[in-house]
This record gives sequence, structure tokens and C-alpha cells, in this order.
Amino acid sequence: MSCYRGKYADELIANAAYIGTPGKGILAADESTGTIGKRLSSISVENVETNRRALRELLFTAPNVLQYLSGVILFEETLYQKTAAGKPFVDVLKEGGVLPGIKVDKGTVELAGTNGETTTQGLDGLAQRCQKYYEAGARFAKWRAVLKIGPNEPSQLSINENANGLARYAIICQENGLVPIVEPEILVDGPHDIKKCADVTERVLAACYKALNDHHVLLEGTLLKPNMVTPGSQSAKVAPEVIAEHTVLALQRTVPAAVPAVVFLSGGQSEEEATINLNAMNKLKGKKPWSLSFSFGRALQQSTLKAWAGKDENIPKAQAALLVRCKANSEATLGTYKGDAKISEGAAESLHVDNYKY
Ligand code: 13P
Repeated sequence: MSCYRGKYADELIANAAYIGTPGKGILAADESTGTIGKRLSSISVENVETNRRALRELLFTAPNVLQYLSGVILFEETLYQKTAAGKPFVDVLKEGGVLPGIKVDKGTVELAGTNGETTTQGLDGLAQRCQKYYEAGARFAKWRAVLKIGPNEPSQLSINENANGLARYAIICQENGLVPIVEPEILVDGPHDIKKCADVTERVLAACYKALNDHHVLLEGTLLKPNMVTPGSQSAKVAPEVIAEHTVLALQRTVPAAVPAVVFLSGGQSEEEATINLNAMNKLKGKKPWSLSFSFGRALQQSTLKAWAGKDENIPKAQAALLVRCKANSEATLGTYKGDAKISEGAAESLHVDNYKY
């Protein structure tokens, strides 16, 4: 049987292509209540609904920022929230030409008999939730699978299990009108070199596309959100051009040309590092049948969060910091970033956390 051809097919293709528009990318603001709590506690702000809403309002209403974005990923709570003036966030985004997205996974659990490897939960009732989110205005979704590199990891079990979970999620999203972002994140944790990361990334992506095909997913109506290919967090750093070459080669070998865009996660890189690496990939000559863009969480929000520090009087400064990062990343999608973004506090700081939970 061929791939999905149901009633949403044309819309999925159009929305996925729109999200991949060069010059635009995704702001991942879908931190679960627990994860946003950690961010808020880093600036001594209490993790309550009013503060979570205030932070998201600051992001979505930042002057001139939405022109650089094609999508924003929301957590369920945020999908239904409004600005202080009573305007639904979904309407703020839509009016700014930005598609609202929604995190639909329910986090990870350990796979028995492995060395702490995981699988992602959330397939039960997913179709119904997707229908509800579509009605609320969401047009794309995210599901984060997590793999790790170790002496014997990722295991074949974890590769198969996560690829299959992503494929089931993806087809359920498509049947209900949401473009699935397929996110097999290989954590940066470890002492491995960039070659090892490249090998593992290729193995994992190859398995994912086999599963997506087996599950009849319409690839034109999907997006890939991978890690960049880098050395491990306990290994010496390499130049952005080296990261760009290894990453693009891994994608060329495994990601079908039918996929419209690859939107990288930042994975604990500093804001500036993530931008420079993306820029290097877009400057690189060679076969790139997909657009290469961003879907950053930490690497778009860190300096903004620091500038805000939970104080109303800091909102303009915080919004200016977000604008700096969004504009720089927009340029990086075109390969024209000159490294001239004003480096605000936090922009050069590593955002790596071992075994990161989103
Ligand atoms: P980071 O960019 O902070 O890695 O996160 C993006 C994301 O959405 C992970 O699922």
C-alpha cells in the first residue's frame, strides 16, 4: 500500500513546506511544566501558571520577532492560554504568519534490560488528542525520541523501538491533520568523537525512514528534527565547518529528498554555537534537497530568560535579546550570518545538561 493520501494530504504538504521556508524557523517553547520549572528556578521565578504564561507572552509578542519564525511549538497548557489583554496565543501567532505546533509525547521511560536507554510514551489516545489540538489551531506536532551513545549504545532494541514509535506517531498525526516533526535526538553526552556521532546518526536516521515508509507516512508532509553531528560533550570541540560537513553527509545518506526541511534541535549548544553551526551548513556547497533550519529551545531562549529575570521592567530588554537570536538564526538558514549578533549575557554559555529531559 502506498503512503497517506487522506483528506489532509495537500494541507500537510503545504504546511510542512511553509515551515521550511528559508529565512524562517521554529521556536521550541514546549517545555513541559517540570522542565520550564527548572528554567524559571534558574532565574528565581516560581513555577506557577501566571509566570509560565507571562514568559510565553513575552516570547510571542516580542516586536519584529515573528517575521523570522514559521512555527512555534507549544505545550498543551500554552495552546489554550491568552495574552494579559485576552487574545489567544494561537491568534497572536497566526496573525504573525506563524503556525502553532504542539508537543504530543508524554516523555520517556526506560527500556528494561538496557543500560538506561529509553522509549517515548504517548500513543494511547493520540488520535483524539490530535483532533482536539487541530480544532484549537495547531497544525504541526512534535514527539521527542531520545537515544544515547555509549560503548554498546544505542542498542538495536532502542533504535527499532524509537523508530517504530516515531512512525506510529507520525501517521496518527497525519491522519488527523498535524504535520509530524520526527525527532530522534541522539544525546551529546559522552567522550565519543564526531565520527562515532556520524555513524550513530546515520544508523538511527536510516532506521527511522525505513519505519516511516513501512507505516505509510507521507514524507512530503513531515519534518525531521535531528541533532547536529558533533563530538561528545566530553570530547574536544571541532570547527563549525567540520560539524557542517559531517552533518550534511549523514543527512545526504539517510534523509529522502521528499522531506521538505530539516529543523535542528540545539541539544545543549550555546546560542551562538548553534547559530554558527547552522550557518556553516547552509554555506556548505553540495547536495541539499531539503532546507536546513532551526527548531531551537534552549538556544533561542537563554539570553532572553536571563534578561527577563521575572521582572516586568525587563520585558523590552528580554524581547530585544530574543530578536537578536531569531534574526541571527534566520540569517543562518540562508548562510549569511556574519557572526555579528550582539552577544548578550548567556549567548556564549554552554547549555548542556547530562541526560536532558524536555
Ligand atoms: P533544544 O533546542 O533545547 O535542544 O530543544 C529543542 C526541543 O524541542 C527538544 O525536543
